[in-house]
Amino acid sequence: MSEHPAHALPSYLDPHELGPWGVYLEQVERVTPYLGKLSKWVETLKRPKRSLIVDVPVELDNGTIAHFEGYRVQHNTSRGPGKGGVRYHQDVTLSEVMALAAWMSVKSAAVNLPFGGAKGGIRFDPRNYSKGEIERITRRYTSEIGVIIGPHKDIPAPDVNTNAQTMAWMMDTYSMNNGTTTTGVVTGKPVSLGGSLGRVEATGRGVFVVGCEAARDQGIAIEGARVIIQGFGNVGGTAARLFYEAGAKVIAVHDHTGCVHNANGLDVLALTKHVEEHGGVAGCPNTESIAPADFWALETELLIPAALESQINASNANSIRAKIVIEGANGPTTPEADDILTANGTLIVPDVLANAGGVTVSYFEWVQDFSSFYWTETEINHRLEAMMRAAYTSVSAVAKEHQVTQRTGAFITACTRILESREVRGLYP
Ligand code: GLU
Repeated sequence: MSEHPAHALPSYLDPHELGPWGVYLEQVERVTPYLGKLSKWVETLKRPKRSLIVDVPVELDNGTIAHFEGYRVQHNTSRGPGKGGVRYHQDVTLSEVMALAAWMSVKSAAVNLPFGGAKGGIRFDPRNYSKGEIERITRRYTSEIGVIIGPHKDIPAPDVNTNAQTMAWMMDTYSMNNGTTTTGVVTGKPVSLGGSLGRVEATGRGVFVVGCEAARDQGIAIEGARVIIQGFGNVGGTAARLFYEAGAKVIAVHDHTGCVHNANGLDVLALTKHVEEHGGVAGCPNTESIAPADFWALETELLIPAALESQINASNANSIRAKIVIEGANGPTTPEADDILTANGTLIVPDVLANAGGVTVSYFEWVQDFSSFYWTETEINHRLEAMMRAAYTSVSAVAKEHQVTQRTGAFITACTRILESREVRGLYP
């Protein structure tokens, strides 16, 4: 029997995998030539430090027992504890969570937060379960991953289909199991429980701030600029409102229920109310319904993907006529689409920079929890804006210096920081 070569990847890290993990590996390939001597350590980035799969058995309201599959992946902790959200979605897989955890490592380092990267998820559609069932699923999942999370080990937060209530249950479960109220174990909590003002809006606000910076770079005025958005959840909805309030025209929104369009600009406040009442954008008054293919092909200054991974891919990239793409979602653009858009002159502000506002205010929340001293919303928004602007400026300077995309610029900045920590810490034991 031939020996398994020491440098070969474990089978679950198949480099030919085409999903989000494959996308992430390709992004690492693209940054490697710019890492100099640190490229000796690049293999670290291609393997998550720790991946946990847990069974989540729960009694449903009808008395039957259901089993769900849960994950928590800690991709890298060289610069600090693992940090990243928990996602509830019927399509969640281990390799998707691995990619999301890796993007958290890159994101935290790109904006220079003292965190590593982690992510979690449970494979189920919360829309099909009652509030009580979701609470029981959350609590059992938290207990199962309780062996690896903690305020100095790995700090979960909200992500797709999770929110402040989910974080309150996680914080309570962890605290009851450990015998001490530990607010710092999760971020994105309700404000009454040690959460931070401004956290709910933080990701969308960060998208807005870097969107304004990128527009200024390209000589585009926000006042009157056209914006189209895929996703109208916490990120897309907040970004839509902030651009609308700044005088931009949000001309189309695409969500899981359909695409709505109004060439004169949608009434974002009315659309928000419609989504609250009907669960999606479809059927909103004073809008016309358009096909997804027509949504992507709209002529616009800004395009904000704020839904799931790989939405901009080889099948629609060539039709996109946006001047700037601001990635509110994690991993919305495949490497092929990156190349097509770049060749067509579209500027892409990458996820690891554009949506870092959420984890930045999570960091503020964690700091406030430890000092038990809480900041005002003005103070939080001010610090958030300053950090996002500084990160945008330094990433775009690195991109210009090396004549690479902002994504590769962000990866150069982040991976250098991660691997410098890796090297100076050394291998132990
Ligand atoms: N889920 C968010 C993200 O993807 C926030 C993570 C956090 O605050 O830890 O960036």
